[in-house]
Amino acid sequence: MRFKSPQQPFCRWCGKKITKHGSRVWIKREEAPTDRAFAGGWGRNVYIGDTPFPTNKAELQRHTNQHVLSYKYEYELDDNKYILGEKAARTGKKWIDSFEEWDGESYTDPFFCSGDHAKEFGYAAAQKGFAMPAYNEAIKKRRGAA
Ligand SMILES: [Zn+2]
Repeated sequence: MRFKSPQQPFCRWCGKKITKHGSRVWIKREEAPTDRAFAGGWGRNVYIGDTPFPTNKAELQRHTNQHVLSYKYEYELDDNKYILGEKAARTGKKWIDSFEEWDGESYTDPFFCSGDHAKEFGYAAAQKGFAMPAYNEAIKKRRGAA
């Protein structure tokens, strides 16, 4: 349940901060025919043409006006050192090819850090006698039928 708040909410069960809800951005040279088919939903693409890929967070920040939560490097591999069954050696050259941007106010949930903690909270509430109206109606009907 995506949730917007000026303050980061805490889990009602464990008290931990609830995760920021970011979205993935892929950095590409140019648009591929399949890009449109996958557009929307989750994330977006940034097309940089012949300009260099960002190699650090400062350069990456030029591609978004939101907060950067995380980013992933792509590593250049030396094909000459490639041996069957082993990982190709890295040349040492790397660049950022995707990152997660965050609007500064979106969180994954208003109340819980996980489904398990929502469930734990539910059991604790039930043990204390809390119930929803549908449950109370069912109990009332059973008493009326008896
Ligand atoms: Zn929790």
